[in-house]
Amino acid sequence: MSGKEQDFIKEAFDSNWVVPMGPNVNGFEADLEAFVNNRFDNTPLTKKVVGLSAGTAAVHLALIGCGVGPGDEVLVQSFTFCASSHPITYLGATPVFIDSEKDTWNMDPDLLEEAINDRIAQTGKKPKAIIPVALYGMPYRIDRIMEIADRYGIPVIEDAAEGLGSRYNGQMLGTFGRYGVLSFNGNKMITTSGGGALICQDTEEAKEILFYATQARESYPYYQHEHIGYNYRMSNICAGIGRGQMTIIDDHIAHHKHVQELYCELLKDVDGITMHINPTPAFDSNFWLCTATLSPELKIKGQENAYKHIIDGAVGGAAGVTHAATTATTDCQPNANVEALRIALDAANIEARPLWKPMHRQPVYKNAPAYINGVSESLFAVGICLPAGPYVTDDDVRYIVETIKNNIQY
Ligand SMILES: *Cc1c(COP(=O)(O)O)cnc(C)c1O
Repeated sequence: MSGKEQDFIKEAFDSNWVVPMGPNVNGFEADLEAFVNNRFDNTPLTKKVVGLSAGTAAVHLALIGCGVGPGDEVLVQSFTFCASSHPITYLGATPVFIDSEKDTWNMDPDLLEEAINDRIAQTGKKPKAIIPVALYGMPYRIDRIMEIADRYGIPVIEDAAEGLGSRYNGQMLGTFGRYGVLSFNGNKMITTSGGGALICQDTEEAKEILFYATQARESYPYYQHEHIGYNYRMSNICAGIGRGQMTIIDDHIAHHKHVQELYCELLKDVDGITMHINPTPAFDSNFWLCTATLSPELKIKGQENAYKHIIDGAVGGAAGVTHAATTATTDCQPNANVEALRIALDAANIEARPLWKPMHRQPVYKNAPAYINGVSESLFAVGICLPAGPYVTDDDVRYIVETIKNNIQY
């Protein structure tokens, strides 16, 4: 974090705007609009951005904007973080999970269309929205997804929480669908400590989202409520951090792409490890996280001991986990070589992680309908996330790759 963030926060205190509205919120929204509306072909878009308290809140409000309510169904990518699907359940609706395709790891358009037809056949109703997710920053096949969505008249909510600054054909993710979700949580491409935003089509829709984000107040001298609202507006302090972060966002993205290139270069001759890359030049990932897959044949030192013990280190740790695990294994988990590599890297002070576990394999969603081709579950078995943040230097990447190589059992 630079001095810029502190200047904007100080200004908020000095001008007494320590509330969930104010000049920093307006300024941050304007910065975000300029950023997402920029296109490589120089025909700028006119999307509006509403600053919110979290990306999860943005998903929730987008669903409300699409009219999702009790008994409805929403089609959502299964290979994602839970914040893409949990808000569907907040509204009494049902998530219907769609598996991924191999190149992007994101929503499979063929399965999407199959699911739309099957849901209509089974329930007599059209699903209310479609949520593709830019997993690890990689663009989804938005051309095909929009074509299908438009043909069936179903709105698209792009979950670009991990894909801020990623482009498809030169256009920013989050600006293709009816809504685009952004997150500024501590671990995302830029941070406001905690926060999010919703990209909306126009001023009218942005106003409606703002209405629901501020307790749905009608304009009377007293509190008058005709709808149920939420306390989801971004605070002026957080927005001050965001304005500071917008001055370095291009550098951050360039850095993530550079780190990705370096991993690709240094790992290219290592048998059994494959980096996840842009499938064609139309895809321009921000590489929020650099990810790789490990061939099941690859032997990692100590893999025979993986999953022997219940992990207790996560509870009470920085990630805020409060429930202790009760078993050392589950019926859907990364292969032993992936877990062994994670442990070996951890011992060398390198934080690697498994890929996100698909939602259709999460116990909490065991009753949700799902359209599955096996891709996300097989990627979860073999994948690993490597460090890619702004503080990861070239030397760090070399150290990480050396540590990986040193732990391969030949
Ligand atoms: C982080 C994230 C969100 C939610 O963002 P928060 O700001 O943490 O609420 C939504 N979707 C995906 C895919 C994410 O990774």
